[in-house]
This record gives sequence, C-alpha cells and structure tokens, in this order.
Amino acid sequence: MIFEVVTLFPEMFSSVTGASIIGKAQEKGALQVYLTDPRSFTTDKHHSVDDTPYGGGAGMVMRPDPLVAAIEAIELARGPAHKILLTPTGASLTQPTVLRLAKVPRLMLVCGRYEGMDERVRGFCDEELSIGDYVLTGGELAAMVVIDAVARRLPGVLGNADSAVDESFEAGLLEHPQYTRPALFRGAAVPEALLSGNHARIRRWRRLQSLERTRDRRPDLFAQLALTAEDRAMLDGEEP
Ligand code: SAM
Repeated sequence: MIFEVVTLFPEMFSSVTGASIIGKAQEKGALQVYLTDPRSFTTDKHHSVDDTPYGGGAGMVMRPDPLVAAIEAIELARGPAHKILLTPTGASLTQPTVLRLAKVPRLMLVCGRYEGMDERVRGFCDEELSIGDYVLTGGELAAMVVIDAVARRLPGVLGNADSAVDESFEAGLLEHPQYTRPALFRGAAVPEALLSGNHARIRRWRRLQSLERTRDRRPDLFAQLALTAEDRAMLDGEEP
C-alpha cells in the first residue's frame, strides 16, 4: 500500500515511519510513504502557502493553489489516489473506516495548518476525516494516526494477524481485559477463568467481559450490537 502525504512538515513523519511496526513494514515492502511539501509548488518569491482570510478574522488560511498543485503532481507522477482531507469538520475516523481504507492501493492524506485550508481544496479530495472532536495544530498527527491504524490492517504488517481481529471495535465491541504474569500482582489476582485451561470457559469469560465493558462504557456501540441468545443469557447471569 502506498501512502501519499501532503504536508508542510515532512520531517514530523520520521517518528512514525522510521520506527517499530510501521518502519519494519516499510522494510518488508508492505507499505511505502511518500511525503510531498506543498511549499515546493509555490510560484511567488516568498514561497507563500497561506494568506489572510477573505472577510477578515483571526489567523491565516492555507492557499488552494500550492495544495492542489501538489495533489495533481503526485497523481501525475505516481498514479491516482483516494484523497482524504484531514479536518476537524470531517467524518469521525472509526475502525470500519480503517478497514475500508486498508483495501485502497494508494491513499493520499492532505494535512492542513494554520486556521485550515481554503474551502475550494475540498473539491479536489474524495472524503474528509477527523480523528476526534478536538482541534490539533495541524493535520500531520491526524495523518500519522490514519497511517498507523490502516497499516496494521495490511497483510503481513502485524506478526500475528489474529491480534488485530480480536481487538476493540473489530466486531463492534470493546476488547476484554488482558492479563500476563505474574498471576498475583500487589494483591490483584488474574481471574480464575483465565487460569483454568478450559478454552470454552475462557472464550465465554472474554465474551462476557467484552459485552459488559461495551454496555457500561460505550452504550452507543452496545445499542448497535446484534446479541446472540448466548450473549443475552450470559448478561442475565445464567450459567452455561
Ligand atoms: N479552524 C479549523 C476549525 O476550526 O475547524 C481548525 C484548523 S486546525 C488549527 C489546522 C489543521 O489541523 C486542519 O486544517 C486539519 O488539517 C488539522 N486538524 C486539526 N484537528 C484535526 C482533527 N481533529 N482531525 C483531523 N485533522 C485535524
């Protein structure tokens, strides 16, 4: 998979692309990240990428011409991409969106700065995404979040492919609690079911924990679940 990032701060990406799982995935050829600075597409002597907002108001707005020139140059050089504008006004990034994006061969992430971008840039992108209901200083961290979340769902990126499938949000549920050694830590013991060696019991315990966590912490997700008869019985406290 190819990630194309349009950013005024390409140097920020080395922390994500050069290390750990994403770094190794690049070495293995599972993904590639190209960084393009829209400042290289400015035509004035000051290389301006921003200007004051029409109608007045605080701050500066990113000009559309260097951004669109960068988008078009990338597609001309390396082929068409699915183009995502990162903005707090976009749709919220969710795991179903991540899974959909993981099937796209070339993803372009367009990062804003300052007070955001000229509205006309939207017309050159395919969708708009927000990573949450808060405002960052720029789209770079949002782009890194998208790259990280999408990359770990690409074939061959995670050592154990099952580790992603069981996680929070994959089946509309929050993940069950996880434990490792020691079995007793500062008076807190690992739940007995996990030590039982009984796989059916462990599966039921984990499923119930996931259901209860989701019900208690994310009633919005819980309301969308299609509960099985076994789920209902467990939630009602019935023994199998
Ligand atoms: N004035 C804009 C607003 O109120 O919606 C915020 C601009 S923000 C300071 C600058 C850039 O950061 C945005 O253009 C966008 O690319 C990025 N950004 C900030 N928060 C974001 C979020 N929650 N998700 C995605 N991108 C975000």
